[in-house]
Amino acid sequence: MRKLLLVLLFVFLFSPLAFSAPGAVRCGKLLDVRSGQMLTDQTVVFDASGTITSLGSSSSAKLPNAVAAIDLSNATCLPGLIDVHTHLTGEPTGNGYASLGISVPREAITGAKNARLTVRAGFTTVRNVGASGYTDIALRDGIDAGEVEGPRMRVSGPPLGITGGHCDNNLLPSEFHYKAEGVADGPWAARAKVRETVKYGADLIKVCASGGVLSKGDQPGTPQYTLEELQAIAEEAHKLGRKVAAHAHGTQSIKDAIRAGIDSIEHSSLIDDEGIALAKQHGTYLVFDIYNDDFILQEGAKAGMLPESIEKEKKIGRLQRENFRHAYQSGARMAFGTDAGVYPHGENARQFAKMVEWGMKPIEAIQAATVNAADLIGWADKVGVLETGRYADLIAVRGDPASDVRVLEAVKFVMKGGAVVRNDLAAK
Ligand SMILES: [Zn+2]
Repeated sequence: MRKLLLVLLFVFLFSPLAFSAPGAVRCGKLLDVRSGQMLTDQTVVFDASGTITSLGSSSSAKLPNAVAAIDLSNATCLPGLIDVHTHLTGEPTGNGYASLGISVPREAITGAKNARLTVRAGFTTVRNVGASGYTDIALRDGIDAGEVEGPRMRVSGPPLGITGGHCDNNLLPSEFHYKAEGVADGPWAARAKVRETVKYGADLIKVCASGGVLSKGDQPGTPQYTLEELQAIAEEAHKLGRKVAAHAHGTQSIKDAIRAGIDSIEHSSLIDDEGIALAKQHGTYLVFDIYNDDFILQEGAKAGMLPESIEKEKKIGRLQRENFRHAYQSGARMAFGTDAGVYPHGENARQFAKMVEWGMKPIEAIQAATVNAADLIGWADKVGVLETGRYADLIAVRGDPASDVRVLEAVKFVMKGGAVVRNDLAAK
């Protein structure tokens, strides 16, 4: 008995974040994100591994021995949210020349801070698409080991890009001989870079197909990688069991990336009708980050963004939102991704209201951040819905997110894998 107590004490002291036990949550309301139905008085039961074992009306729920359900009877539950485009190790203040003063270890520590903000905002899973020095892989592993509080992560490592492109670093003159670690030109060099990135632990590959907004000396609308290079990257990544996310603002690059078999188009800003038709035909997800434009225009200059970046955003921001509406009305598949890190972490949910403002029904915006996002990241069997066999990743809000998505900006309860991350609903 004494030995058992010591073991329990050890577990409690040394793995506070990983610790979990069988449990249950009683939800006054529960949003079934697949059907859009609002269910009343539901109890979610999970086992010690943090996996849901049953879900149904509270009156018929069978709780494990000695388990008392967490009382969320005054709230609405839904699955933990998913953001498929984050940069947890980046900050809005680290733009332009300020970015040159940030070391890789410093970036890693920034990531630990932002992982906590993100999970506490209700995003229990993220796909992180671009970080320096494999800091995202260290962060994912630290979270999985229970050493750092944060969301489940799917991570890309350094993004692949051409010399002088959006994912290179063009801030320094030639005598510094600096190039970003993901730079690879030509199909075989790009294949080798995919292999190297996978070798060091990437779950997916991020590639910069077109120019971008926050980089120096390029234009968002112009192609960077060729179709041949994109095909080589997609083929190599898929062969190794990894999906590919392509940064593509430009009309041509969007089509090249889709034709190459890439799994999601990030930003999608200048997509045309042909691009939308191709995306539908190939089943490619479109990820429109339509919240951060406001931040870039209002705060970008103060945040150290280059004047050319602000000019680029002025040209592209509104077009991106109009094309989001058009792609949505045309029936394209969409997943929720915000480019967190361009704007402050933890404010991810502000994009829901933008998606509704630009045409989506609230439930569709929520589906983009749950079922669709889970499908895109290859975790449809793990996250994105509250069903038996999925992780007990559950959030709760006051009010009805299916009629007012803004309630998701103030998440009151977060559970990840059966462990409570925050609970502001407990009796005061
Ligand atoms: Zn990004």
